[in-house]
Amino acid sequence: MIYEIRTYGDPCLSDVNQLVNIDDNIKQLLDDMLETMYKTNGVGLAAPQIGINKQLFVIDIGEGPRKVINPEIIEMSEDHNDSDEGCLSVPGIYKKVRRANKIKVKYLDENGSTVEEEMEGFLAKAFQHENDHLNGVLFVDRISPLSRRMISKKLQLLKKARLKNKK
Ligand SMILES: [Zn+2]
Repeated sequence: MIYEIRTYGDPCLSDVNQLVNIDDNIKQLLDDMLETMYKTNGVGLAAPQIGINKQLFVIDIGEGPRKVINPEIIEMSEDHNDSDEGCLSVPGIYKKVRRANKIKVKYLDENGSTVEEEMEGFLAKAFQHENDHLNGVLFVDRISPLSRRMISKKLQLLKKARLKNKK
């Protein structure tokens, strides 16, 4: 099943996300999220982006799918990089975001096993972006005040477009 992507201004994107108990519905949801992500050419998709306020996301940076449940970032490197990011929920906007180069993470896979992984580069960046969604944070909340001012009009238009679509 393909879900509709919630966009900037949707309250789901900033709501609190609940911890997940894994069952068949959750497994189905993860498969549907992957299907939705591939359909929309995303590299990651978090549950609040489809209006489901639960702690889970999917990622595929071209190395195969990862299903991530109840994640925690347990270590972040001091060294970081600034590179362009975009988001399915903030269409048409790309801005530089500062992210840690390396992170250590812990999460559950769909079988309920605890996974501990170290990741770096693009994968680490994507993981931090998706994890932010679970804390109600969008990449445009992390950009410089100057960049934020530069896109404020576009963000207002996205908000308006969302309300129009809802009618
Ligand atoms: Zn995003």
